Amino acid sequence: MIIDGKQIASSIRAGIRQDVLRLSAQGRRVPSLKVILLGENLASMSYVRGKIRAAEEVGINSELVHLPDTCTEADLLGMISKFNSDIDVDGILVQLPLPSHINENRLLKAISPQKDVDGFHPENVARLWLGEPCVQPCTPRGIIAMLDACGIEIAGKEAVVVGRSNIVGKPVAKLLLDRQATVTIAHSHTANLAAVTARADILVSAVGVPRLITARHVKKGAVVIDVGITRVDGHLTGDVDFDEVREVASAITPVPGGVGPLTITMLMQNTLDCYRMKM
Ligand code: NAD
Repeated sequence: MIIDGKQIASSIRAGIRQDVLRLSAQGRRVPSLKVILLGENLASMSYVRGKIRAAEEVGINSELVHLPDTCTEADLLGMISKFNSDIDVDGILVQLPLPSHINENRLLKAISPQKDVDGFHPENVARLWLGEPCVQPCTPRGIIAMLDACGIEIAGKEAVVVGRSNIVGKPVAKLLLDRQATVTIAHSHTANLAAVTARADILVSAVGVPRLITARHVKKGAVVIDVGITRVDGHLTGDVDFDEVREVASAITPVPGGVGPLTITMLMQNTLDCYRMKM
């Protein structure tokens, strides 16, 4: 099975749209999302456009605040503070990476945890690891939603996550653990990666090295989720050698059209959830 991320995302978005339409029909305000972008990084601009388009599609009221990269940290903190105290704002997202004169950690900590739709605030991270209600980061949440949409059993399975970033590798490992998988995290210092990944019933790769995962890394019948996105000769390429691995996997995500659409969809879901937390 080739997992169709676009189709799964589109059906989840249709559900979110219904929920938002219901709110309007009840005469309530619709959820609102502020997306802050600094500078002219082409990849960031393209990601942000995708987020604004997705918000339009589901009926979430979004605003792109596009600032020059000369904007100071104090100005940015001031803006976040204003959005934090605005009861009509449900979600605040600052597109990363930020210019080097801005302290990313300080900025992410300034966003109210209740409006932190990316799930990057230390309070949400701590809650995730403690198993308390929290805003889950979008890509890991999207991966679980994708496995569920495909009816893929997680409990009792061997899951291997390659990559240990704070935004994908570590949180997706925790979410798989919460769903009763036996989880291993592999990374750049893992000796004999293929021996580790070949144990996986569910293999998630979040590295950013094109074609790192080949057929010899994958057990026959495994489910392979490719999070990696690298631009090679103008084309988006995943971590997985798709043509080779599809011959051994029982299910595999393509790049593009796999995890990416789910990530943006979960941003919409998180915005709606943050809105509902206030109701
Ligand atoms: P990162 O770039 O912060 O870190 C990469 C991780 O890969 C590190 O933990 C490192 O230990 C590991 N690694 C590096 N080389 C390795 C090797 N040879 N073998 C095993 N592990 C190795 O990670 P990130 O921010 O999670 O991004 C990973 C990839 O996922 C990037 O390509 C990024 O663009 C992509 N991404 C995609 C989405 C999406 O929605 N599809 C979302 C976020 C990130």
